Amino acid sequence: MQEGSKTCSRNDFARIYIEKDLFGDAVTERIVSRLPNAKIIPVSHYKDVFARSRQQYDVQKKSRSLILARNTGRLIYEGAPMCQDFDMENFSYTNSVMNCIYDCDYCFLKGVYDTPNIVVFVNFEDYQKEVDRKLEEGPLYLCISYDTDLLALNGLTGLCDMWTDYAKDREGLTIEIRTKSAPSDFISSEHIIYAFTLSPDEVIEKYEKKTPHLSSRLNAVKAALGSGANVRLCFDPLMHIEDFASVYGRFMEQVSSAVDLNAVRDISLGTFRISADYVRRMRKNGPLSEAAWYPYDNKGGVMSYPEVKADAMTDLVMKELLKHTERRKIYLWK
Ligand code: SF4
Repeated sequence: MQEGSKTCSRNDFARIYIEKDLFGDAVTERIVSRLPNAKIIPVSHYKDVFARSRQQYDVQKKSRSLILARNTGRLIYEGAPMCQDFDMENFSYTNSVMNCIYDCDYCFLKGVYDTPNIVVFVNFEDYQKEVDRKLEEGPLYLCISYDTDLLALNGLTGLCDMWTDYAKDREGLTIEIRTKSAPSDFISSEHIIYAFTLSPDEVIEKYEKKTPHLSSRLNAVKAALGSGANVRLCFDPLMHIEDFASVYGRFMEQVSSAVDLNAVRDISLGTFRISADYVRRMRKNGPLSEAAWYPYDNKGGVMSYPEVKADAMTDLVMKELLKHTERRKIYLWK
């Protein structure tokens, strides 16, 4: 991880597993050239490494591997109701990468995969063809940074650039790029939404340790707005933290003095919530994770803070937001 920008560096991966028929592939070669110190290991299929049984999450976390593969399975998924966004019809997501270089304590990916190793699917042209096919059926709203932080990996994979180049003039397509990274270059297009997750530095220090500080993320938001890009701000997840009211009060002041909240496209607001099935696996993979072991309420299979607490958290942030922007811009998760 490079200090400051907190993106990938040449020493982040000690090993790269590559499916045998991908040697010579352009994206594969690009990634390999950026990791000159990594050991290359050919494999028949990515699941031989990624889905091995009896993996030790915490041990692998100390020295993660990168796995380059071709996705021959499903390329686009319908969004789950819990993830439905901004009442968008045809909300879908795609996973050209599985797992993330960041390691947020509360990340749902720890509840999905038994390994922190990262898979990059290099066959971007197949994703493109599938999106083209879907667009024949009607407009498509596609989250491309769903099982990962695609922008944080862009220096290594170039995949985010490929998606934005493809999407920027694509009739009927809107892509959302959710990120905690702090890039400086953006594309201004009605088809692309940059969705920045913002958290107080106290939350970043506690739960999002490997991600950029708030000031870097705010600089990225300003750069995006300055270049005319569509910006979504995500105050989501709000994390319960000691002295929540003063921590989030200071945070909102910092955000509203740095960014013109009327200039952003929209704002998403919600407290931490996650499926109970994921929490079970998160507890196994992160036995010391405070976020995983919090005594949540289970409402119909979704774990979340007790209602009174969650309401107090969202009310506080909503009140601050409404001092600077209109209610219709804010999507509140309930
Ligand atoms: S940035 Fe997002 S995807 Fe990456 S570890 Fe954090 S929560 Fe998970």
